[in-house]
Amino acid sequence: MISATEQKPLEEITQSLEKCKSVYLIGCGTCTTILHTGGKAEVLALKDKLEAAGKKIAGWMVIPTACDEITKYALESSEKEIQAADCLLVTSCAYGVQRVSQWADKPAIPAVNTLFIGKEDGDTYSEVCAQCGNCVLAWTGGICPITSCPKGLLEGPCGGTNKGKCEVDPTKDCAWTLIYKRLEQQGRLDLLEKEQPPRNYQAVVRPGRLITK
Ligand code: SF4
Ligand code: SF4
Repeated sequence: MISATEQKPLEEITQSLEKCKSVYLIGCGTCTTILHTGGKAEVLALKDKLEAAGKKIAGWMVIPTACDEITKYALESSEKEIQAADCLLVTSCAYGVQRVSQWADKPAIPAVNTLFIGKEDGDTYSEVCAQCGNCVLAWTGGICPITSCPKGLLEGPCGGTNKGKCEVDPTKDCAWTLIYKRLEQQGRLDLLEKEQPPRNYQAVVRPGRLITK
């Protein structure tokens, strides 16, 4: 699993840093390093671009896993340089930005957009689960219609499905063709004839919270 991210445009980053003369850069050694959106190379590239834009760089670090508690200790270890900065620019996923913000008394600015939790298919990362709170995989042959179908349809294919391909992206198989084939293979096509309850959009009340004790 990976937290899929993309870098924000430099213009947006510099706008967010408008009131910060001095910036401390924080990268992440896990997901954004794998995706080349916020590891060491990207932090150093941003450092050069920001210096060229007239910013003073107070320092930089790459935390092994920015969403982890280790962030607290990493920030403490560079306290002096961080105190010299007006803002912290973070190239981790949004949870890493929240962690930095939790433990640093400086504004934490995200340098990337967090897109989804995904899986790796070669050079492509695809969303696998939107954490809808009401999983239907039991009757869709283990294929998620919410993340595999661009329309998130739960009751079968739309009218645009064409020879097993998706009308939104014809390079992809229609999710509901895949679901049909999987259920056919499993001898469970009868599941498609059963009336399923409508999607409960309140299954996870935001903000999501889970109490285990
Ligand atoms: S139906 Fe899809 S989005 Fe919902 S929990 Fe199951 S896999 Fe995740
Ligand atoms: S063609 Fe299939 S996958 Fe594409 S939007 Fe319609 S139902 Fe969803």
